Amino acid sequence: MQFIEALKLRSKLFMVFVLITLSLISIGIMGTTYVNAMKKNIDALYFGSLVPVTELGDIIRTYNTQLATTLYKTSRDEISLDETIFSLENGLKVIAKRWKSYFSHYKTADEMQYLEYADVELQETNNYFYEILRLAKEGKDLTKLSIHTLESKVANIESVMQKLLKYEIDVAKYERKKFLHTYNDIMMQIGFILVFVIILIIGILLYVFRSIQHDHNRLEKVAKKLKIVNKKLENASYTDSLTHLHNRRYFNFIYERELKRAKRSKNYITFMMLDIDYFKQYNDTYGHIEGDKALRKVAQVLQNTLKRPSDYIFRLGGEEFGVLLNDTDASNSAQLAREICESLREEKIEHKNSLVCEYMTLSIGVVCCVADDALEDEVLISRADEMLYRAKESGRDRYIITTDISRAKVLKLQGDNEEEILTA
Ligand code: GH3
Ligand code: MG
Ligand code: MG
Repeated sequence: MQFIEALKLRSKLFMVFVLITLSLISIGIMGTTYVNAMKKNIDALYFGSLVPVTELGDIIRTYNTQLATTLYKTSRDEISLDETIFSLENGLKVIAKRWKSYFSHYKTADEMQYLEYADVELQETNNYFYEILRLAKEGKDLTKLSIHTLESKVANIESVMQKLLKYEIDVAKYERKKFLHTYNDIMMQIGFILVFVIILIIGILLYVFRSIQHDHNRLEKVAKKLKIVNKKLENASYTDSLTHLHNRRYFNFIYERELKRAKRSKNYITFMMLDIDYFKQYNDTYGHIEGDKALRKVAQVLQNTLKRPSDYIFRLGGEEFGVLLNDTDASNSAQLAREICESLREEKIEHKNSLVCEYMTLSIGVVCCVADDALEDEVLISRADEMLYRAKESGRDRYIITTDISRAKVLKLQGDNEEEILTA
């Protein structure tokens, strides 16, 4: 059965098809063979026993009802000689024909012995009637015919024929019994063969279907693994390898999706653009490897500060980061921006060549508004970029937030521990 496992699904199904077809053909051939055998039996029963019975019956009847009755009537002068001749000739012809036919059927050796005796008796009786026929044809008076002789002749031949008839009926009974026996045997054999073939087919089908199921499970497992690999690949294509934050590619996708969602529900949407202050100097002072470490620290600070599942943090490129918040109003957005600045400062990442602080700092441009259909796609990015520029211009280590997406209305500026409201 190993070879079934090795077959492909199509071949397995084809095999099942061939198997069922072959089984049906073989059952058909077997059925036809047995039915033919049964037909032979029925024929043998019919021609071997029933036909002789009717032939003997005909002979007895002809002696009794035709020949004897004719001679009774002739003796009583009830019918003419011509009628007598016609009836005798006709009756004797019928008897000869039936006897010839009966004789021609297959007979056993035992039967043949008695048949020869019966044949002599029949010929003798017929000779008696032929003699009367001759006399009738010669126009002799038949009214003096001995009824006694007639009756004893007819009674004798009837007894001989009855014996034969009884023998044939016994043979018919025996043949019928034999036939029923053969019929039961055949039916039992067909039953056994059918049960065997069905069990065999069910067994093979079960095996094939189990094998198909096995293939199916294997395919499902492979599909599951592929799904996982695909997910990993997808994640990799959306992840920044240095900081493990979402990358620019994912930002493009999420930005569009979240903006649409906010527009639909007329909700707050906040976008922050973050840029490390004097990072070029940091690299120059501490080297690129330290620079990479610092970038990872900043990513950590952002992740620690923004914990809501709906907060998205991206590394947009170089030392620039992006933050997208949903459902957060301006004061909460400003609060988060402030926390980011403070948290980074509290990390105390040494930056001795920064012109604003002895530790690493960053500047943030924030835009927060209620999204509606009028909000153009790129506005949030360009306004956040503008605010970032302003934060850099006004001294760095601070955030500037605006809620006005048409005019650059700056609400809050934070830096050097002082706060002031600016209006553009
Ligand atoms: P500013 O305060 O105006 O932002 O000054 P800056 O020096 O940060 O500005 P600038 O854009 O001139 O410098 C960005 C630097 O960031 C330049 C580059 O050396 C550094 N940088 C960009 N990507 C990486 C990175 O993946 N790893 C490291 N170590 N440095 C990077
Ligand atoms: Mg920069
Ligand atoms: Mg910078």
